[in-house]
Amino acid sequence: MERKKVLITRQLPGDAVEKLKEECDLLCDPPSDQMPRNQLLELIPEADALICLLSETIDREVISRAPKLKVISNYAVGYNNIDVAFATERKIYVTNTPDVLTEATADLAWALLLAAARRVVEGDEMVRQNRFTGWAPDLLLGLDVAYKTLGVVGLGRIGLAVARRAKGFGMRVLYWSKNRKEQWEEQFGLEYQPLDTLLQTADFVSLNVALTPETHHLIGEKEFSLMKNTAILVNTARGPVVDEAALAAALREKKIWAAGLDVYENEPEVHPDLLKLDNVILAPHVGSGTIDTRAKMAEMVVSNVLMALKGQRPTNAIN
Ligand code: NAP
Repeated sequence: MERKKVLITRQLPGDAVEKLKEECDLLCDPPSDQMPRNQLLELIPEADALICLLSETIDREVISRAPKLKVISNYAVGYNNIDVAFATERKIYVTNTPDVLTEATADLAWALLLAAARRVVEGDEMVRQNRFTGWAPDLLLGLDVAYKTLGVVGLGRIGLAVARRAKGFGMRVLYWSKNRKEQWEEQFGLEYQPLDTLLQTADFVSLNVALTPETHHLIGEKEFSLMKNTAILVNTARGPVVDEAALAAALREKKIWAAGLDVYENEPEVHPDLLKLDNVILAPHVGSGTIDTRAKMAEMVVSNVLMALKGQRPTNAIN
């Protein structure tokens, strides 16, 4: 059988790509930096399979230049960067990397929640800048987390993993999602609430919805006005779920207490007003960024490609 050609837009951790090379040819050595779009457009016509990142827009222009393409294997669980409808029309599989990154991403949501509640980054800066002059009763006071109320917006795999962790803190857990999950309510002690009620009630709000046209700017000025002024917002979903300008205003005007963000509306740009605020913790989109998780994601994208190229339906096909 003729060896198939695979385009990989970036070097991936682990040894999965080496295994792929035993069965397929790569159209180029995967670059160590973001592949320029013109190079992607130049190489895609020869590709039988594409392994790409969430930071690349795989739209109609890319897909229509790829007559041989059988699979778009996204190195992420979210696939809002891909025109799935058009890929489906062209009978191209789109695959993602669910489950393997669930726990790592939930851990980061909790790292941001705790760091924002206890002002960990401000404390670190204070110590490094020699401004720590000794224990004081009122030094960098934060918020209690235990026995408070967490609201999870989007109860999918990661949302549930965030909720499960809250039980270790003795928290009441509310959720809102597209579909109610009565089985999980009982099993994990969760309460379904309409979004407005969740926002009014929760002390901590974790965003875990997929980005779709319906969830774009799901949280904006109106939603911030519903939240408690002691609330903390955590976003490890996708930046455009939040109206970033409205978030910056809510934090500046202390309509909410703090935020912990891993994702931004126009990555890698961050709204300039957020950069000026102390009550927001800014992570560089590293939700799934652990050594083990990123290696498992690489194995998954390769496995999905090999299945599609062998004429099988890939395990993680979403279309
Ligand atoms: P998932 O299991 O598919 O969960 C996504 C959730 O979004 C589902 O529970 C779904 O609700 C909900 N949802 C979708 N459309 C909705 C709508 N219109 N209204 C309300 N809820 C809606 O995916 P996952 O594995 O948990 O991942 C969730 C998201 O996290 C991904 O899409 C990705 O964008 C993001 N993520 C970020 C990182 C990072 O590095 N920061 C890492 C991994 C994932 P129902 O189940 O009720 O239908």
